[in-house]
Amino acid sequence: MSAILVVNAGSSSIKYQVIEVGSERRLASGLVERIGEPLGRLIHRGESGSISVETEQAIGDHLEGFALLAQAFAEAGRSLESLGIAAVGHRVVQGGSEFVEPTVIDDRVAARILGLAELAPLHNPGNHQAIAAARTAFPGIPHVAVFDTAFHRTLPPAARTYALDPAVAAEHGVRRYGFHGISHEVVSRRAAAFLGRPVHQLKQVVLHLGNGASVCAVDRGRSVATSMGLTPLEGLVMGTRSGDIDAGALLHLMRAGYDENRLDRLLNTRSGLLGLAGSNDMRDVRAAADRGDAAAVLALDVYVQRIRHYLGGYLALLGGADAIVFTAGVGENSAPLRAEVCADLEWFGIRIDAARNAVASGEARAISADDSRVSVLVVPTDEEAEIARQTWVLVSG
Ligand code: ADP
Repeated sequence: MSAILVVNAGSSSIKYQVIEVGSERRLASGLVERIGEPLGRLIHRGESGSISVETEQAIGDHLEGFALLAQAFAEAGRSLESLGIAAVGHRVVQGGSEFVEPTVIDDRVAARILGLAELAPLHNPGNHQAIAAARTAFPGIPHVAVFDTAFHRTLPPAARTYALDPAVAAEHGVRRYGFHGISHEVVSRRAAAFLGRPVHQLKQVVLHLGNGASVCAVDRGRSVATSMGLTPLEGLVMGTRSGDIDAGALLHLMRAGYDENRLDRLLNTRSGLLGLAGSNDMRDVRAAADRGDAAAVLALDVYVQRIRHYLGGYLALLGGADAIVFTAGVGENSAPLRAEVCADLEWFGIRIDAARNAVASGEARAISADDSRVSVLVVPTDEEAEIARQTWVLVSG
């Protein structure tokens, strides 16, 4: 038996799962958080999903975090050694133009991931810290970087180019990279499997609607357009991020005295649903809107309009689609949101069935009416399983 340890780490947290190769069974999962703060915490779950170890103590850095995690596996009675870990798969947010495939990490690759921090200052430094610590904590097995940008390597020039002076764009790496690629890839493949058709015969629009959110036009298994750009800030309205905004508005705010840190905080952490309605949790926003809260109603209207704007655009780019696929926290769980996104699209051949849409389930399912030309699906994302799969493909040669 072989398994992959999947690590999704930020500057102060390590999320992890152990996934068995082949069966994709989740043998364990957990979270180390508040690394570097006075009181850190680890929560470890066994195969059943119930908590088997919970610890609160100071966790100075990522290396201590990995030591604590290894100890939790042992305490839970299934040490990492006994699980047959064949490799560690690391999620890395930004691969730039350089990393377009999963890559075995050596010193040079680790340094380049840190080098790409310029393009992803909120993500790559934390990813790099965790990679360095994990390589020290678990030597002797391959560590693989799986990039959130890589699926978008197939973006054609028209989709990845901003209309800027090409010399400036080239000097500073300013182009559309796209993110959520691990999710868009696994979801589009699972949607095809659900439909019983090869992915290379299908045109899909995948709506990944979580705390972060993006749309991807997937043409026969290849990303051909996506709503996130140079950074994960562009595109849809998100939990705390604005999505699309006139670049001129930033100049306007800068002239009014905003510097880059203040703009960064405004756009990345205080905008989106949180900024408009006071909460980044879609459930709260929906409940407030149902009570008649005007700010929440407007937030939902802006959120839905933005999605429909991209959906319509991508249907035009693809020349029609076989499937529209909802995924991630909001996409998988909010039936009202799905209904609003798909309302009045009969002209496009899109009609959902209210009863099917209302069913709550953790399984892939169709919510379109029988006479809908386009299949509308809900397909749970599983980025960890996809990271494990890509890691295994690479290390098993
Ligand atoms: P992340 O991007 O952090 O992985 P998720 O994919 O878990 O985020 O999505 C989180 C979002 O999903 C939150 O806004 C949350 O409100 C929303 N969500 C979760 N469950 C529901 C639900 N039952 N109805 C509506 N929204 C939900």
